[in-house]
Amino acid sequence: MGEAVADSLAYRVLCLLREHGALSRAELADRLAVPRARLLGELGRLTAADQVREAGPAASRGGRRSTLIELSPAYRFGAVDLGATSVRVEVCDRGLEPLAAVEQAVDIRSGPRPVLKVVSELLGKLRADGAFRQLDGLGVGLPGPVSFRDGVPVSPPIMPGWDGFPVRELLAHEHNCPVVVDNDVNIMAIGEGYGGVARSVEDFLYLKLGTGIGCGIHLGGRVFRGKDGCAGDIGHIQVDPNGPVCACGNTGCLEAVFGGAALARDATAAARAGRSPVLAERLAAAGALSAYDVGQAAAAGDPTAIGLIRAGGTALGTVLAGLVSFANPSMIVIGGGLAGLGHRLLAEVRAVVYSRSLPLATGNLPLVLSELGDRAGTLGAARLASDLVFHQA
Ligand SMILES: [Zn+2]
Repeated sequence: MGEAVADSLAYRVLCLLREHGALSRAELADRLAVPRARLLGELGRLTAADQVREAGPAASRGGRRSTLIELSPAYRFGAVDLGATSVRVEVCDRGLEPLAAVEQAVDIRSGPRPVLKVVSELLGKLRADGAFRQLDGLGVGLPGPVSFRDGVPVSPPIMPGWDGFPVRELLAHEHNCPVVVDNDVNIMAIGEGYGGVARSVEDFLYLKLGTGIGCGIHLGGRVFRGKDGCAGDIGHIQVDPNGPVCACGNTGCLEAVFGGAALARDATAAARAGRSPVLAERLAAAGALSAYDVGQAAAAGDPTAIGLIRAGGTALGTVLAGLVSFANPSMIVIGGGLAGLGHRLLAEVRAVVYSRSLPLATGNLPLVLSELGDRAGTLGAARLASDLVFHQA
């Protein structure tokens, strides 16, 4: 996947054009620091293969006139972000801007064949609507550990029937293009690093707060996946030895203390015990409570809801403080559904991280909310798909 070998000149040319649009030959030569003759040879080859094309004369820089080069406008990249209960599918252009997008409810527990059938049907619909004729590459994020090398899920806890299923092979066969499969938190981190709040940052942590909790570890400009694709699975780090039992069987995991499912549980308990009239009212009206209700109740000034967010922020901050000391990131980005709890949560997490980490590691450490929201995952998947295609150019 190009991680072990040096990136080819073709790959570097195509990436620059993806990020900057049209560039003159002179600008390309400057940015790539390669001899002009070698660059021209490579551009000739990429032009003949319809991967790049000339886009008219560049503004004169006072010397020899240069011609603008751009990526072929025919490039189409598919992006799939599969969650536990829904899927988002996009078709992106050469600059990874979405040309068409569709979202649908899907239960990941119904197994790989029915779920991937939905994915293929959604892509078929986008093709019928004219978003593409043939995909050049497809990127897919799954809500569990993935062997990036093999393109298969590895013992994913919330995905019965998916362990070892050949997701990459099946989709590549069905859509007749190269496919790359990764963990959903990783693709969000990649998206945020490519076009979000962390775009100028090499070393950052992307924290996904949803039903569960995961961390994308982006170091030296790349996602760190670990041996089995499980790196960043921080939801099962223990934060309270006397805490509630987690779905994984251990006690007091971060995810059992804080996270979408834990918040809903604690909010329901508080409502039933008469500790929060606001939550009790919402429970009576809707029949169930979610993290969203906790956020709404907190916004209305409900002290119990505010207390739940504070306690969660403290648990999360404690784990993050450890990660900060370990990885020395230059930014922490918080995304996922619980990011909707917003600045109250952020304030609590910040307070704990800044007070518990070494001053050297937090001297200038922004802790911010995701800019991309739902698009982080699909942008990251599209970026991975284009990387794969460009590596083969
Ligand atoms: Zn656990």
